[in-house]
Amino acid sequence: MRDLSPSDVIKAEVRGLTAYTLKHFKADVKLDQNENPYELPADLKKEITERVLSRPWGRYPEFVPEATIKVLSKFADWPAEGILAGNGSNELIQASLTVTLGPGRRIVLPQPTFTLYKLMSTALQADVHDVFMNAADMTFDIDGLIGAARSADVVVICNPNNPTGTLLERNALTAILKAARGLVLVDEAYHEFSEQSAAPLLKEHRNLVVLRTFSKAMAIAGLRFGYLLTHPEIAREINKGKLPYNVNIFTLAAAEVVIENRKVLQAAIEALITERERIAAELRKRPAVQVFPSKTNYLLIRTALGARELFEGLYVQGVLVRDVSAYPLLQNCLRVSIGTPEENNRFLSALDNALETKR
Ligand code: PMP
Repeated sequence: MRDLSPSDVIKAEVRGLTAYTLKHFKADVKLDQNENPYELPADLKKEITERVLSRPWGRYPEFVPEATIKVLSKFADWPAEGILAGNGSNELIQASLTVTLGPGRRIVLPQPTFTLYKLMSTALQADVHDVFMNAADMTFDIDGLIGAARSADVVVICNPNNPTGTLLERNALTAILKAARGLVLVDEAYHEFSEQSAAPLLKEHRNLVVLRTFSKAMAIAGLRFGYLLTHPEIAREINKGKLPYNVNIFTLAAAEVVIENRKVLQAAIEALITERERIAAELRKRPAVQVFPSKTNYLLIRTALGARELFEGLYVQGVLVRDVSAYPLLQNCLRVSIGTPEENNRFLSALDNALETKR
């Protein structure tokens, strides 16, 4: 049999892509993936484990995880029929795009934004229409998005946006929802830190899909859980793009326990917001650093140094941040997650050292 080359079998669009991965993963001070630095308390971990021990492991989870969806329904104040649970919100992004995109279909993406959207849309051979953010302050180009939404099958708004931290106000979102021909996917991975949500607009707008994750404020990135809120008719269709038994019984139990104990997480969320404001103010004191406004648990910064150089300068001191300089408009930019006060202080002094030695 002759040797098979990727070009014989893999779509050209896919061969042109770079896989979603990170080169560095471990560090003393890990500020590169916007995770919650505060671990779930041990008693909650124990409770999750006990619940799982009481369930049969040899049986599949239900097709529709009804108990978890019921808890989510109460938590999000939205009918169970309009909710889907996912193995991380990534899986629900994939399902939503699978059922809406293909050759001849168009998706509108603000740029820069979370890279998975472009990756998946390209693999699905859709037409990707980028609407660039305003470069000076990384705010959304609202008129550009409204115009583009008129001829799009899907519009994605990460709100607040990753990696810029920027928030789109409710009025602008409503205008986009009204203009849109297709679905408007509002990815609220960081909404707990912005204290704003599109969920109240769901009743009025059947084309709205709200995506949420338990990987950030909800502190269980390692267990992979996300959910989606939309009109039941749309949920029924997106459900067809999801794999059966997609969320395992451990994760389902964890999601329930985390919601039931939501108050425990509130203190961590408030601490992270306070720290974000403290670190932003600290950075603003440094003339060598430009910091963009953020409503998330991370900050986008720019310095005159090359991003790779500064990234390495921090990394050798044990501080891992994200080099986002390859994103459109983000030359010389790094993204720094907000950690514990001690971690944030380590970042600040490492930054000062790195900038000092490179001057
Ligand atoms: N959406 C956005 C905007 C994100 O930043 C991330 C994580 N980086 C995700 C979705 C994916 O989250 P999950 O862990 O739930 O798959």
